[in-house]
Amino acid sequence: MTERLGAADRPLQIAIIGAGPAGLYAADSLLRKRDISLTIDVFNRFPTPFGLVRDGVAPDHQSIKAVARIFDKVLADPRVRYFGNVTYGVDLHHRELKRRYHQLVYAVGAQADRRMSIPGEDLPNSHPAISFVGWYNGHPDYRDLPADLSVERAVVVGNGNVAMDVARILVTSPDELARTDIADHALERLRQSRIREVVVLGRRGPVQASFTTPELRELGRLQGVDAIVDPRDLELDAVSQAEMAEDRTATANLRLLHEYAARTRHPGARRILLRFLTSPVEIIGTDGLITALKVERNELVVDANGALRSRGTGEFDTIAAGLVLRSIGYRTVPIEGVPFDPATSTINNIAGQVVHPNTGEVVRGEYVVGWAKRGPTGLIGNNKPDSAATVEAMVADLPLLQGRRDGHRHPSAIEALLRERGVDYVTYPDWQVLDAYEVAAGRAEGRPRVKVTTVPEMMAIIRRGP
Ligand code: NAP
Repeated sequence: MTERLGAADRPLQIAIIGAGPAGLYAADSLLRKRDISLTIDVFNRFPTPFGLVRDGVAPDHQSIKAVARIFDKVLADPRVRYFGNVTYGVDLHHRELKRRYHQLVYAVGAQADRRMSIPGEDLPNSHPAISFVGWYNGHPDYRDLPADLSVERAVVVGNGNVAMDVARILVTSPDELARTDIADHALERLRQSRIREVVVLGRRGPVQASFTTPELRELGRLQGVDAIVDPRDLELDAVSQAEMAEDRTATANLRLLHEYAARTRHPGARRILLRFLTSPVEIIGTDGLITALKVERNELVVDANGALRSRGTGEFDTIAAGLVLRSIGYRTVPIEGVPFDPATSTINNIAGQVVHPNTGEVVRGEYVVGWAKRGPTGLIGNNKPDSAATVEAMVADLPLLQGRRDGHRHPSAIEALLRERGVDYVTYPDWQVLDAYEVAAGRAEGRPRVKVTTVPEMMAIIRRGP
């Protein structure tokens, strides 16, 4: 008789694609199911795990990175194997994983930027925030980003927390950043930076901004930086006033913004200017260099769904600037063999269960967590309940997967396949070698770590051993 799937003699075999917070919270949640015998293989494109904890969280927000301790425990669990430096869709394919695991969990995040679709967007010093964030965090894909900081004014488009991060990093004293794990190449360039002012543009009003109060407060506490708001930008229409009355974050943000608007400016200080109800319409440049951003004043209108949207008033203005960073949201990209919903830029799913786009039929044994599931919103901690909810769906499905043949699902099969392909995969002990190297290099400089920012260098350090 076949043992129950998840019984000691017939462990449930799970593959998680992506070693970021969503994937590792899912693993954590699975490991807590003490009555299910299971093994988890976590595949990750880079040798380094932890996704946005390493590549997204700003270097001056070290306390947020403490969550890595939880993820370390997950990867150290004897039931978990880490396979870093393995690209899904290149080194390993959907059908191969499907054959070898009972359940697949996609935790691939949102790896691409959204576009503003305005003229001049592709001029040389116009970059998506995702690249700029990757650049200062030492993400191997963005280490060579040609961001030119020898200009006086930068414009950051968008009103989320990523916009706050990017604006703050641009004007924070490099001496302070030098105490963090910011990538060395970024620190060097920020030391040479001539940026004096960062203008942050919200297309809607201050009540509709999606940044949170602690991040807004940080802007007002930066050494040698004035946070500036024009009080006229804080005059609210009736709908915004009503919205604010029901939104504690918006109320707290408004209070802070009024405080900034009333502050005395300091001659010679660097500035962050927060502007609202303003949309970029064109990036203007000569000889390939950005010289200005043409913007339009907006008003708020209630759309058919009762939401407040921005609408151009036909009143234009230009902001002289040499660098434009668009921080208007991230986007999941389709991955091999997995249904994708282009309307929401997410993996097609119902409550974490992957479904076929046209029929709504469940793709049995396949699940999604994190930004690829719900879109690019939420803090790292929001992934914990979200991943746990997907795990409940996985557990509920076990009786339906019971009948699958699994004689071919030997745990060593995946290692053999990767070796046969010449994939130089990284295990958890391998990552610990690199981790220890980075931390030791950081200790010597009084920093949490010095990041290694290319994959060949990472692999050389790992293969050299402890
Ligand atoms: P976000 O919070 O969704 O903000 C995106 C912003 O872009 C919104 O202000 C949006 O305005 C604006 N926008 C979108 N399209 C636009 C366009 N065409 N023109 C002008 N503006 C446009 O996204 P995010 O900042 O990328 O952050 C992603 C998630 O990570 C958020 O949940 C965030 O809180 C989180 N995060 C947290 C931290 C932290 O805790 N410190 C740091 C970074 C990120 P509308 O509202 O008008 O659409």
